[in-house]
Amino acid sequence: MKPGNKLILKIVTICSLVFLMSQAGAQSAPLELKYLGTAGWEISDGNVVVLVDPYISRLKLGGGHPDDDRPVFADNDIAQSDETLIDEIVTRADFILIHHGHYDHLGDVPYIAAKTGAKVIGTETTITILRAYGIPEDQLYAVGGGEDYQFENFSVRVIPSIHSALGEKHYYDARRYDSRSNLEAPLRIEQFIEGGSLMFLARFDHHNVLTMGSMNFVERELEGIHPDILLPGVNGSRLGLYNYDERLLDVTGNQEIIIPAHWDNFRLPYGFSQEANIKRNIIPFINAVSDISPNSQVITPVHLGIIVIE
Ligand SMILES: [Zn+2]
Repeated sequence: MKPGNKLILKIVTICSLVFLMSQAGAQSAPLELKYLGTAGWEISDGNVVVLVDPYISRLKLGGGHPDDDRPVFADNDIAQSDETLIDEIVTRADFILIHHGHYDHLGDVPYIAAKTGAKVIGTETTITILRAYGIPEDQLYAVGGGEDYQFENFSVRVIPSIHSALGEKHYYDARRYDSRSNLEAPLRIEQFIEGGSLMFLARFDHHNVLTMGSMNFVERELEGIHPDILLPGVNGSRLGLYNYDERLLDVTGNQEIIIPAHWDNFRLPYGFSQEANIKRNIIPFINAVSDISPNSQVITPVHLGIIVIE
């Protein structure tokens, strides 16, 4: 906790967006975080709009829900973006940060990068996929982890990370794409490979945000990084890791504001109930945080709802 640095929260959903900045001319521009579902965010401080793993199509992969009458996709189907829905939700982006190359993180980025002209920061695998889709070179920044880049109104530290321990810890994928890879767009869903995992410390006007795209992290890589706002991966696979919640909160300094990511069922469209995942993932996490870091506030994000942090 940092005394004297108390943050005031206002949570606003998109359907009741009545937020007005209470102190015109206040020195600190509020930060707005819109939850796009999965590990996806739109974060803006009024100067710069940053998207993180923006996955909006939420394809019906496998089973899905009986009330969801969209077509079912299999892993070997050609990936498709719901361009109409994306156009409704994404109107501007200056930067796009990509944690890893799986479809639920990168699948909509070819369309969004082409539409917005945003600079995209991701692994060489991620960048190679975007190149295959014809995204211009001057938008593409391949990183390996460890970079700390200053742009005009925004800076970002790239943090080496690891993927969720899927499949009861049997998941491991060392495949990578590079200039020798023979990729032809459009790709099949299964061609969106992980390609290594990253986290980001995104520094905005008056706040910095630590982002996660998975339920895993390399503890030593987070030492000394104490963000105001943590967006942790909060899904079931974290329970297979040793003291995930405690180690993550301890090493990142028990910040005041924690907003869980990647806890929802991303095979369901927006508007479908996420109660089952709230019960399974969010409630136990809130209970764990109240024990580990009682001064932290966990905010449960709502799909397309905007959280304003002054
Ligand atoms: Zn993944």
